[in-house]
Amino acid sequence: MKLVLLGAPGAGKGTQAKGLSKELKLAHISTGDILRIAIKENTPLGQKAKRYVETGELVPDSLVTQMVIERLSSDDVKDGFILDGFPRNRQQASDLDNFLSGRNTCNYFVLYLDASEKTLIKRLSGRRICRKCQAVYHLINFPPLKEMTCDHCQGELYQRSDDKEETIKNRLEVYQRQTAPVVEYYFKQKRLIHIKSDDDAPLVLRQMLEVLAKPFSSRS
Ligand SMILES: [Zn+2]
Repeated sequence: MKLVLLGAPGAGKGTQAKGLSKELKLAHISTGDILRIAIKENTPLGQKAKRYVETGELVPDSLVTQMVIERLSSDDVKDGFILDGFPRNRQQASDLDNFLSGRNTCNYFVLYLDASEKTLIKRLSGRRICRKCQAVYHLINFPPLKEMTCDHCQGELYQRSDDKEETIKNRLEVYQRQTAPVVEYYFKQKRLIHIKSDDDAPLVLRQMLEVLAKPFSSRS
């Protein structure tokens, strides 16, 4: 099975991709991981990406696309994968289709994780990160044992400026602008499977597995 996970920041893409990957025994391809690994292994694309990351700039879309396509060309994803964090815009969606149709793999589905703005803000604004080791916590879903202190290294936890409510609203707007055309594109292709993701992660995962077990014609 080949799956693409779409959803706003805070919709639960990373968590759900991990769950699906475990349940369905599919390779989890996250753009964040690809980037980190390519930089660590110092591949030609990794070297290019490193220059942007080091200066704090956003890695250009075209470079991200090349890295994803390189990853999708490996043998271990031939029979199935879950793409998490890609495509982010309409151009990347077309690039992905061009690549996959060249390999005769057009039979993929797109799971669209849809949570209300209220849920997204609640999830994102609860995130806290350790200053020392960068471990990620959540005030509600994954609190540290001791208030504002890292379980691993006793470092101080802080809230990234990205995760403050004003900034979150802005991030969500940017997401909507870029990704709404991607959702529309997949809807027209009849690949889109709409999943409400306001519930807790295990419930959402179960719902997805149920939908994926049905024949496509009866999916909503
Ligand atoms: Zn720590």
